[in-house]
Amino acid sequence: MTGNRATGLRFAVVGAGMAGILAAIKLRERGEVFTVFEKAERIGGTWRENRYPGLTCDVPAHAYTYSFEPYPEWQAYYATGAEIQVYFEKVVDKYGIRPSIRFGAEVTGLVWDDASATWTLTLASGEVQVFDVVIVASGVLHHPRVPDLPGLDRFEGAAFHTARWDDSAPIDGAKVGLIGCGSTGVQIVTAINARVDRLVHFQRSPQWIMPVPYFTYSEEERAAFRADPALIDAIRFSDEYIGNVRRFTDAITDIDGPQMKAIEEYCLLNLENSVKDPVLKEKLRPNYRAACKRLIYSWSYYDAVQQPSVFVETGRIAEIEPHGVRMADGTVHAIDTLVLATGFHADRFIRPAGVTGQNGLTLDAFWARRPTAHYAITLPGFPNLFMLNGPTGPVGNFSLIDIAERQWTYIDQLVDVLRRGEGRAVAVTPAAHAAYEERRIAAAKTTIFGSGCSSWYLDAEGVPASWPWSYDAFDAAMAKPKFEEYAVLGT
Ligand code: NAP
Repeated sequence: MTGNRATGLRFAVVGAGMAGILAAIKLRERGEVFTVFEKAERIGGTWRENRYPGLTCDVPAHAYTYSFEPYPEWQAYYATGAEIQVYFEKVVDKYGIRPSIRFGAEVTGLVWDDASATWTLTLASGEVQVFDVVIVASGVLHHPRVPDLPGLDRFEGAAFHTARWDDSAPIDGAKVGLIGCGSTGVQIVTAINARVDRLVHFQRSPQWIMPVPYFTYSEEERAAFRADPALIDAIRFSDEYIGNVRRFTDAITDIDGPQMKAIEEYCLLNLENSVKDPVLKEKLRPNYRAACKRLIYSWSYYDAVQQPSVFVETGRIAEIEPHGVRMADGTVHAIDTLVLATGFHADRFIRPAGVTGQNGLTLDAFWARRPTAHYAITLPGFPNLFMLNGPTGPVGNFSLIDIAERQWTYIDQLVDVLRRGEGRAVAVTPAAHAAYEERRIAAAKTTIFGSGCSSWYLDAEGVPASWPWSYDAFDAAMAKPKFEEYAVLGT
């Protein structure tokens, strides 16, 4: 690998969801040559794939927007999934990036070549293209986890995962079974309880519910936002949002501190004061600490779950029968439609695409123990490959758009090394990454996520797979890479 590049860099962006759209906009601003590869026929990522009733982003809408593209049109403090999809479609057109997106183009392979300092990208169609830099924006929660329940394949009604919503399945006036009580399951309970004949919510573990305000914006308020974007900033940077993000990350990293105590008190009071029936209250009382699993922000779940149409089943499912669900105690619930709100394989990231870095190192081998990336972005042995929302990034109840924008600041500065012709590739050194992981794992074990519950935040060894420090520490880390942690190749 010698010499500088004679021409500009060629970028591949994998995925046209929130993060891939961000990368495309930023690359276009810099006048870079890039292609976005999207396996589906539409942009939107998680907001394209999830269409379940009640789909809402529990991050305030004005905070779940690109900082450079505020959106006065949000209908309410929290936006629905459909609105968010419309927002991204508008952004893609406004910034003129749609022509740079290849739809129906699933990336199946990426192979690094040291001699040419390039990535060879292969699509499912067999087409091959060569790039200098790869931005992996393929998302986190996109491989549905379908539970291994005996008899599921013999169920004769409609049965589907929440990310594969079946619009033809009976809901109105039907007997619906809903397995799973994460953010998704809870949102579905709030949306369909008034439509069904009966909703059996199969709840293996109850959840702590953080009460949050909900209100719609009037047309007058939207007109005011259009006229004065400072009003939007006032929401986005309000103590209500950004202050909460700081308090939340302080809480999860200082689990016996005052912020965590406050969260626990809010959630406990919410349960005590909102749920009337003592039997139901005990069913809904978690036996682990608040925020250990992703905290659920909801303004209406406890109302919904107390409706006469809803029954919370806490017993163990023995098997799925053709027309119902049989519990271990012999009870059978008749079910027309079975909804699996059972979450995602959170350790996949760009996989199943095969990624091979230097010296034949595969991503599967590098991630054999756990998915990891340096500051959630770069991987030793995989030069010029940058992840947005990669493993070990911040997770919790805040905007992943903000996270991705900060990550882009970091990535852009590493790409600048290439733009300046200082070398043909940058890669984090194995030693720097190992030191980061050692620090991160030690800290992660002491966060609330490691306080003794199961969740998708935990890796196969039970270690929280997340950023274990404060939001301010993340902000500082993203502001400028530690260039001494990187090797510049091909100088
Ligand atoms: P999840 O949080 O992983 O929850 C999965 C649920 O399914 C859990 O209640 C789990 O029980 C249950 N489950 C899994 N397998 C089961 C089985 N075999 N039998 C019975 N129950 C089973 O998944 P999710 O609700 O789809 O949410 C995933 C993530 O997506 C969230 O944490 C969040 O990050 C994101 N999300 C965000 C929003 C938003 O508003 N921003 C909305 C939806 C989702 P256990 O707890 O006992 O394992």
